[in-house]
Amino acid sequence: MPLVNAKEMLTKAKAGHYAVGQFNINNLEWTKSILLTAQEMNSPVILGVSEGAGKYMCGYKTVVGMVNGMIEELGITVPVALHLDHGSYEGAKACIEAGFSSIMFDGSHYPIDENIAKTKELVAICEEKGLSIEAEVGSIGGEEDGVVGAGECADPNECKMIADLGVTMLAAGIGNIHGKYPENWAGLSFETLAAVQEKTGTMPLVLHGGTGIPAEMIQKAINLGVSKINVNTECQLAFQEATRKYIEEGKDLQGKGFDPRKLLAPGSEAIKATVREKIELFGSKDKA
Ligand SMILES: [Zn+2]
Repeated sequence: MPLVNAKEMLTKAKAGHYAVGQFNINNLEWTKSILLTAQEMNSPVILGVSEGAGKYMCGYKTVVGMVNGMIEELGITVPVALHLDHGSYEGAKACIEAGFSSIMFDGSHYPIDENIAKTKELVAICEEKGLSIEAEVGSIGGEEDGVVGAGECADPNECKMIADLGVTMLAAGIGNIHGKYPENWAGLSFETLAAVQEKTGTMPLVLHGGTGIPAEMIQKAINLGVSKINVNTECQLAFQEATRKYIEEGKDLQGKGFDPRKLLAPGSEAIKATVREKIELFGSKDKA
């Protein structure tokens, strides 16, 4: 199945009270591991690409070429959306041009009026080209590609204003943070989430910073209207741990253990295990 936008899979998720995972990709191994696991689990999936990762993979056209090629040659039949994560205004336009099926415009650092004006313009372009679009209100804590947020809670009225512009999905800050959560983290603000959900109705809500949020909190967030959950750091940590073990056990020094296809295999398997676990937790297994 060629790339699809994220609208239908998220509308179904919201109605069915489960969430679709967005797993960020960094290279061929990442992409392959995520696509094969989604197929194995019969789950829809969203591949997230940050601007930094896009640059690392030689640009958005390379990413589109790789993902489209893989879907065809691996025989992937579950719905796959290729989504720009935390896009700038310019980045969003570049991804639309390159063939992404979905974009996020992160205008959370602009004053609300400017966020609205730019989101509106991009909504019109996405509508015309059949892409889905995610907007963000209230910055999400931690650091992503050099953008540092304090983990604030979004204003539900601002969420309604942005939702009414016709975006497909909305990321609202509810105390979530990118990367690892600090020891003294206050947890998700379910009060904010419930207020945002009440104002935005059927709009699929997005939870960023899915790494390390306890399973009960994830469940509760899904019950309160979250239908897309972003996972990035957790796959990186799983990959790192498995790769470290391979090297520390001296396996790279045995036989042809230096072969990149062998060296990167434990990390790839670890990503698959993480994605499998998340798909189970989010409830999107057999929802393709
Ligand atoms: Zn994010």
